[in-house]
Amino acid sequence: MPTVGKPDVEVRRSHRRQSTVSAYRDGGRVIVLIPGQFTRAQEREWVDKMLIRLAAKDSRTRRTDAELTVRAMRLAGRYFGDYGNVAKPASVRWVANQNGRWGSCTPDDASIRISERIRNMPSWVVDYVLIHELTHLIVPEHNARFWSLVARYPKAERARGYLEGVAAAAGSDMYED
Ligand SMILES: [Zn+2]
Repeated sequence: MPTVGKPDVEVRRSHRRQSTVSAYRDGGRVIVLIPGQFTRAQEREWVDKMLIRLAAKDSRTRRTDAELTVRAMRLAGRYFGDYGNVAKPASVRWVANQNGRWGSCTPDDASIRISERIRNMPSWVVDYVLIHELTHLIVPEHNARFWSLVARYPKAERARGYLEGVAAAAGSDMYED
């Protein structure tokens, strides 16, 4: 997890609040509402908790199917622009069950599915998995031509190592497909 600087936080105490804590963004700052009787220690504890919750919510909502599709289209244009629409997916979505695969592609209808398992991985790893599946729109099988196209993405080897490392550390048999 990347370390992020603490955002500007404003704590508002309310004597009408009994025990509920809530937080929301207001421009660049975070407003945390706490009960008036909270101690300073409770205040610190809850501010930290709410910042973590907000960050988790952000990372979940940022990586939607729509965002994934835009990302895939951008990668297709950038790395496989010479293939025109061939490398452009018709649909890209996150899926929970991928039967051990990081991603999969059906060239017939140009659909791509990406495992939820990589949803919180670094963006360059997500991009690699997308590149891998986009390449399948051009070359269905894993042959020399396939890998030479994948290699257009500069972090391909690094990302493959990252995914292998994650699978090994988790004792899982996730694989590239
Ligand atoms: Zn593959």
